[in-house]
Amino acid sequence: MDSITLGPWAIHYDAEATRDAYAAIAMSDQLVCSCAGCRNFRLAQEQGKALPPELLALLQRFGVSYHYPAEIFPQQPEAGGWRYGGWFHFVGEIVANDLTLEPESVAGISGLRYDGDALVWLGAGKNCGIWLTSTRTLLNKVFAELPTVQLDFEVDVSWLLDVPDSPFAVG
Ligand SMILES: [Zn+2]
Repeated sequence: MDSITLGPWAIHYDAEATRDAYAAIAMSDQLVCSCAGCRNFRLAQEQGKALPPELLALLQRFGVSYHYPAEIFPQQPEAGGWRYGGWFHFVGEIVANDLTLEPESVAGISGLRYDGDALVWLGAGKNCGIWLTSTRTLLNKVFAELPTVQLDFEVDVSWLLDVPDSPFAVG
């Protein structure tokens, strides 16, 4: 296991075990949601415009395949798009949750600050936030026997579909 301190969270993580888990997920049948909100997020992913590069780098460090969030959902309209929430799981554990911890400087994330709930920053000019919990909501069965951390995120994503900005429409 490797270690990292992100804001108040000190964690251990096993990137190799996580990569194995995501390889198994990639081989399994995935339900693909056809609502406009999900289609917009996937289109943004394909264009590299959904998750900011700092978050992608962090996910890669943990061994997470960004293609397979456990959940994503549009939350509220933002200028030119929507704020999305979602989360990923990875193999590891939270070993401390302590506001006095000094966070490691995380490669590529400048202007990182803890707002009392989440670590927030501006990524490519957009609001980004992450927080870590031991929650295992909608946990893929490949993680069932493994210690797991849930990385929740919020990001603003532009509306790219050429259908009206109505993420809850099924198309
Ligand atoms: Zn959907």
